[in-house]
Amino acid sequence: MKKNKVVIVGAGPASLSAAKILSRHVEVLLIGRQYRPEKPCGGGLTQRCIRMLRKVFPDYVHLIESEIRNVLTIYRRGTYVLSSNEPLMYTVKREVFDKEFLKNIVDTCGVEYIPENVTKVEKKNRKYEITTDRGTRVETEIIIAGDGVTSRVRKCIENIRYRNLPLALRTYCSTRSMGQIDIAVLDFSKNIEYGYYWIFPLRNTLNIGVGSFRPCRELKNNLEKYVRTLGLERTHSIDGHNLPEKIRTLISEDGKILYIGDAAGLIDYTLGEGITYAVTSGIMAAIAYLKNRKNPGTIYVELMKDIVNDLKLTRKIAIHVPYRIDRILDMVIRRTITTGKYSIKILRGQETYHKAIKKLLDPRKTIETLLKP
Ligand SMILES: Cc1cc2nc3c(=O)[nH]c(=O)nc-3n(C[C@H](O)[C@H](O)[C@H](O)COP(=O)(O)OP(=O)(O)OC[C@H]3O[C@@H](n4cnc5c(N)ncnc54)[C@H](O)[C@@H]3O)c2cc1C
Repeated sequence: MKKNKVVIVGAGPASLSAAKILSRHVEVLLIGRQYRPEKPCGGGLTQRCIRMLRKVFPDYVHLIESEIRNVLTIYRRGTYVLSSNEPLMYTVKREVFDKEFLKNIVDTCGVEYIPENVTKVEKKNRKYEITTDRGTRVETEIIIAGDGVTSRVRKCIENIRYRNLPLALRTYCSTRSMGQIDIAVLDFSKNIEYGYYWIFPLRNTLNIGVGSFRPCRELKNNLEKYVRTLGLERTHSIDGHNLPEKIRTLISEDGKILYIGDAAGLIDYTLGEGITYAVTSGIMAAIAYLKNRKNPGTIYVELMKDIVNDLKLTRKIAIHVPYRIDRILDMVIRRTITTGKYSIKILRGQETYHKAIKKLLDPRKTIETLLKP
């Protein structure tokens, strides 16, 4: 039986970010097998994501496939283009990104890595015992759990079942005849309830996908049809993965398990963007542990308070605004000129949803906006 001070479960962006920060100060054991086949993803990294990523994986730069300065939003009543001189987002091939991130952490940070799946977590005399599919057993006081949306750690501890989780799917299409593309598309116009299609350009291919926060059986057929309507040909199969349905508790009852990333439901629910919050929560959990090694839970919750509040707001927006009430989307996007400015600031991580909405609803700002040509 191995004994360690801090054990991180999972090998995705959340766990790897926590491992990077912790490895500078303490011994770290990382237990987790990367998804096989690899996790399907849009591979879109916003500016706010890049800001956090630089802290844990500065070598990400060579993995960038495309810099995107224009985002076209299509909705039933029209279109809206958000443009900026600086890139609004970047794209990576997630399959490559995760592998390189893991390699970087294992090769350069002295992290002990067990590429196995955790099957059981039990509390025994104030400590946790973790068992893997290969029979490895590890005893630890603290667990940082970044094992994804259907977290096994949470399942063992809270005895919960994950049912009817939302789903997102993606495929790749060839762009041989199109050259370099500097525009990403978010398409809300096609009757996907609580969801949208995206088209993200990479170097020689397009990542096309669809996600919905309401479980929907037809999603795969819909994506197939969407690709055909665009006159494109798939070069890959259509693959999917669940999205979190809600924000869950960040810590276990005793405060000794810290859930990060999808395991805590930390995504921007309006966009389905989760890498930013995986990286951020991984960093915050590590900082909390370094501040109080016996009881990091309360500090972690405190550090994440504002982010969690903002993400809860994105869930409300996702449910009540764009996917159902096209009229509101029209008003917000088309008539409120300042929205563009705030959207850019949000994507760069310079503004929270809470503050942006407060400013947008500020009567003085509204009048200023209406007076502008
Ligand atoms: C189709 C799709 C498109 C998306 N597009 C985007 C996008 O463009 N931009 C964006 O920011 N976000 C996107 N997301 C969301 C994003 O993928 C997630 O929010 C992000 O990957 C969360 O990171 P994580 O490290 O918390 O979890 P994950 O990436 O899910 O990683 C979990 C890790 O834990 C491991 N693991 C799981 N179970 C166990 C176990 N029992 N034992 C040990 N290890 C285990 C897994 O193998 C994996 O390594 C998309 C999601 C989907 C499904």
